[in-house]
Amino acid sequence: MPKRPVDWSGFAFPKGGDHHRRNSPEYKRLRAFVFALDSYVCVVCRMYNPTERLHMHHRKTKGSGGEDTIANCYTVCDRCHRNIDNQKEWIDWEEIDERRRT
Ligand SMILES: [Zn+2]
Repeated sequence: MPKRPVDWSGFAFPKGGDHHRRNSPEYKRLRAFVFALDSYVCVVCRMYNPTERLHMHHRKTKGSGGEDTIANCYTVCDRCHRNIDNQKEWIDWEEIDERRRT
C-alpha cells in the first residue's frame, strides 16, 4: 500500500472544537445511548468481544454535514471501524437500520 502523504489540513482548523465536542456530556450520553441501542455489539460484524473497545461511527461524517444523532451514529468495533474508514468494507446501512427497528 502506498504511504499516505501527511495531511497538514488539520492544523489549519481549531482542533479544540472537536475535542470539546467529543468530551461534552451530550456527546457521551449519545454514545452511551447508541451502544445500548445496538446492545454493545458491532453492527457490522455483530461480534461481541468484551475486550475490544467499541467505537461510535458516524454514517455521514461530520465533515460532510453529518450530525451527532442516534440515526447517524452506530456502534462498531475497532476492526470494522478501521475497515469502514479505509473503505475496505461496504456497509448495508439500510439493513442495519431495519434490524435496529425490529
Ligand atoms: Zn465489527
